[in-house]
Amino acid sequence: MKAHLITYGCQMNEYDTHLVESQLVSFGADIVPSVDEADFVLINTCAVRGKPVDKVRSLLGDLRKQKAQRPLVVGMMGCLAQLEEGQQIARKFEVDVLLGPGSLLDIGQALEANERFWGLQFKDELHGHIPPPPQGKLQAHLTIMRGCDHHCTYCIVPTTRGPQVSRHPDDILRELDMQLSAGVQEVTLLGQNVNAYGVDQGAKLAGYPSFADLLRLVGRSGVRRIKFTTSHPMNFTEDVAAAMAETPAVCEYVHLPVQSGSSRVLRRMAREYTREKYLGHIAEIKKHLPDVVLATDIIVGFPGETEEDFAETLSLYDEVGYDSAYMFIYSARPGTPSYRHFADLPRELKTERLQRLIVKQKEWSARKNAAKVGTVQEVLLRGEAHESGFLEGHTRGNHPTVVPKAVGASGPGVYRARIEHATPHMLYGRLIGADGQDLPELPRFNPEAAALSHPLQMV
Ligand code: SAM
Ligand code: SF4
Repeated sequence: MKAHLITYGCQMNEYDTHLVESQLVSFGADIVPSVDEADFVLINTCAVRGKPVDKVRSLLGDLRKQKAQRPLVVGMMGCLAQLEEGQQIARKFEVDVLLGPGSLLDIGQALEANERFWGLQFKDELHGHIPPPPQGKLQAHLTIMRGCDHHCTYCIVPTTRGPQVSRHPDDILRELDMQLSAGVQEVTLLGQNVNAYGVDQGAKLAGYPSFADLLRLVGRSGVRRIKFTTSHPMNFTEDVAAAMAETPAVCEYVHLPVQSGSSRVLRRMAREYTREKYLGHIAEIKKHLPDVVLATDIIVGFPGETEEDFAETLSLYDEVGYDSAYMFIYSARPGTPSYRHFADLPRELKTERLQRLIVKQKEWSARKNAAKVGTVQEVLLRGEAHESGFLEGHTRGNHPTVVPKAVGASGPGVYRARIEHATPHMLYGRLIGADGQDLPELPRFNPEAAALSHPLQMV
C-alpha cells in the first residue's frame, strides 16, 4: 500500500499524524509524498474554526473525483471525524475510514476491514503507546496529555478530544529516551493545558508529578532544549516559572493564551480568570525569567465584544509586550455554547479589529526583534534556507533565524549566532565559535560568477 497523509491544525495533530504514519509503516505501507502516488489518502483534520473544515470539504471533493477514476481509499482522522458535522461530510464524500482522536490505533483494524470502517471511541491503549522517534530530526513533539477539562464557550476541543487524560510519567520518559537516542535536541511537551498535568477531572493522580516537577524531571534527561504548549492561565502556578528558571534546558519561552484583554469578555468565554489575574501570572513569570519571550493566542470579535472590550485587548498587548501572537477571528462552531447562545458579530467588524490587532502585533514583534540585534542567541538550525548558502532555524525563544553557512556549521545542529539584523518576522545572524569569534563563512554559490567561469556551450 502507498499511503499519503495530510495534516491540518495544531502540533498535537502533527504528533498524531506521525503516530499513525508509523503504525502504517509497521503494517508494511510505503509513505509517499503526494496524493497522486497514493492508493490510501488520510486527512488529519481540525475542527476548531470553520476555515480548516472548509479546506477538508474541498479536498474531499477532489478525492471523490479521483476515486471515480482509480482505486483509492480515503480516510479522515482527528477532531472533525469525531463530530456529527464531520460524519455528515464523510458520508457525503464517500470517506472509507474515519478515526476519531481517541481511536488512532484502530488504523490496523481499519486496513484489515476491507470495507467502510469508523472508529470513534476513546481508547486508553493510546496513552501507553510510544511511537518511534522521528528519524533524522533535531526536533520532536511529545504528547504528555490528551483531551481537555475546560469548557471555554467558543471551543469544540472538549467535545472532539474528550476529558483530560495525563500520560504516565514513565511512558513520557521512555518516549523521550528513544527520541534522545535518535538525536533529538529539542522536545516540545504537548497538551491542551499542560499546566493541569497530573490532575485529571479535578483529581490528583497518585504517582504523577506536577507539571513543574515534570519539567524538572525532563530537564534531567539530558535533552538540550525543552519547550511546552499550551498553558491555560487558570492552571498556571508560580512553581512552573520557578522550575523553568532553575532548569537550564527549559527554554525561556512561554505561550500563555489570553484570548481577550477584557474581563467581561473572558467571563463570557468561561476562561476562569480575569485580566488582572492574567497580568499577575505574567508578573510572576517575568520575576523568575526577566528575559522571557512571551507569546499568546487572541480571539477577536467574540460575540458581544464592544469597542471598549477590544481596546482592553490592545492595551493588554502593550502592557505585556508579547514577542508574537496567534490571532484568530471568532468562528462560531456548531456544538459550542457560544454558537448556541450568542449572536455572531458582523464579519466586517471582526476583520477590521483583526487588522488593528495585526498592526499592534507587528509593532511589538519589530521592537522585540530589533532589541535582539547585537545579542548572541542559541539557534537550532534545521537545514537549508530558501536562499542557497544559508541555514534556517529558530532561537530558544522561537524566533525564526537565518545565518550563512560557516566552516564547521554547514548543516543542521545547535549553534550560537550573533544577531546582526532583524525584521518583525526574522532574525539574521552570523555563526560564532566557542571563543565568541565569527566562524569563517563558507563561500556562497554565485550563479553569475559560475556562468562566467563555465560559459554555456552553444550548439
Ligand atoms: N488549550 C489551549 C488554550 O486554552 O489556550 C488552546 C487550544 S485551541 C485548539 C487553540 C486556539 O484556537 C485557542 O487558543 C483559541 O485562540 C483558538 N480558538 C479556539 N476556538 C476558536 C473559535 N471558535 N474561534 C476562533 N478561535 C478559536
Ligand atoms: Fe479549548 Fe479552552 Fe480547552 Fe483550550 S482550555 S482546548 S480553548 S476548551
